[in-house]
Amino acid sequence: MKQNILDLTKKELENEIKPAFRAKQIYQWIYQKYADSFEDMSNLPKNLRTELADRYILSPLELRREEQSKDGSKKYLFALTDGLTIETVLLPMKLEEFDEDGIRVHHTRYTVCVSSQVGCKMGCAFCLTAKGGFVRNLSAGEITAQVLFIKKINNIDASRRVNVVYMGMGEPLDNLQNVVKAVEIFADIDGLSISPRRQTISTSGLSSQIEKLGKMNIGALLAISLHAIDDETRVKLMPINKAYNIKSIIDAVKTFPIDVRKRVLFEYLIIKDVNDSMQSAKKLVKLLNNIKAKVNLIYFNPHAGSEFQRPNEKDVTAFADFLNSHGLLCTIRQSKGLDISAACGQLKQRQENGLA
Ligand code: SAH
Ligand code: SF4
Repeated sequence: MKQNILDLTKKELENEIKPAFRAKQIYQWIYQKYADSFEDMSNLPKNLRTELADRYILSPLELRREEQSKDGSKKYLFALTDGLTIETVLLPMKLEEFDEDGIRVHHTRYTVCVSSQVGCKMGCAFCLTAKGGFVRNLSAGEITAQVLFIKKINNIDASRRVNVVYMGMGEPLDNLQNVVKAVEIFADIDGLSISPRRQTISTSGLSSQIEKLGKMNIGALLAISLHAIDDETRVKLMPINKAYNIKSIIDAVKTFPIDVRKRVLFEYLIIKDVNDSMQSAKKLVKLLNNIKAKVNLIYFNPHAGSEFQRPNEKDVTAFADFLNSHGLLCTIRQSKGLDISAACGQLKQRQENGLA
């Protein structure tokens, strides 16, 4: 069977092909010139192009569905080579800035939300991805291919850098080895050139894996899906809290190397009448007291059959105001793509139910 060439770091590619210096050119063709075939790689000798085509595939993804939201975010359903499907989301953010002459310029910053597994073992009560259980890990190249594919089909210039968040389907720290390899492949300057500081790994809080990742010191940013401030509530939402309670997560975060200009992101999914009280806000401020933290509040996005409800806007705003006024930096995630199949797992679910 042919290998996915995107699974190879440049070093590995250098070891696989002769002469080694061709690896750099191949990387540029794939990630910067968006080549559609090995045949197109015109500065490579003919026999090398043939050899590459015999040994490798150029993309492990096939586009199955695409949905665009009014706010500009786009959601993609991809089939992998074994037919399993994953979701990826492109979040463009329009920015307005002023250049040196004071002239207003508009530009867009892109963030791609990638999946790291097919399914997930963690079983969080609010999450659709959890419903189907765990199927398999994605390889490094199946993770990086999501960003490459999306840049390519949206004609996003190769020089336009994007941010990557590992907040799609799956638990990235349950697939640590491949995720760390993806971080390295993303960062290659002959490739997508996405520095680790533009990559955020989001975890449900596997404390021992957080420590392991911290020790590797690869420079990627960390996000913790906290969602509750006491173990009693958290364990109901996230069964993994039985193995790794809140204290163990906080202790692990304290060992994690944090860039001087950066913070650890704590995601807090607000669910009506579950964790949206002022009492919770107060406890959250206390809990994160000694940590360089930033909080991102997320509206729970209801899905068919879910037992939870979307919180009221005024409760979320009050929650955010409390944190900000007590020195805890806080933003509210504008529910991107509420009009498409919003939170992760929902597009896949609809496809499987024949609704998409
Ligand atoms: N497994 C990792 C990363 C992916 S989860 C983690 O849990 O951190 C993707 C993100 O989607 C998480 O922040 C999760 O809290 C959020 N999410 C899951 N279900 C949601 C829903 N119904 N509404 C809003 N956000 C949801
Ligand atoms: Fe897995 Fe994250 Fe969903 Fe929990 S929220 S089931 S960890 S993908």
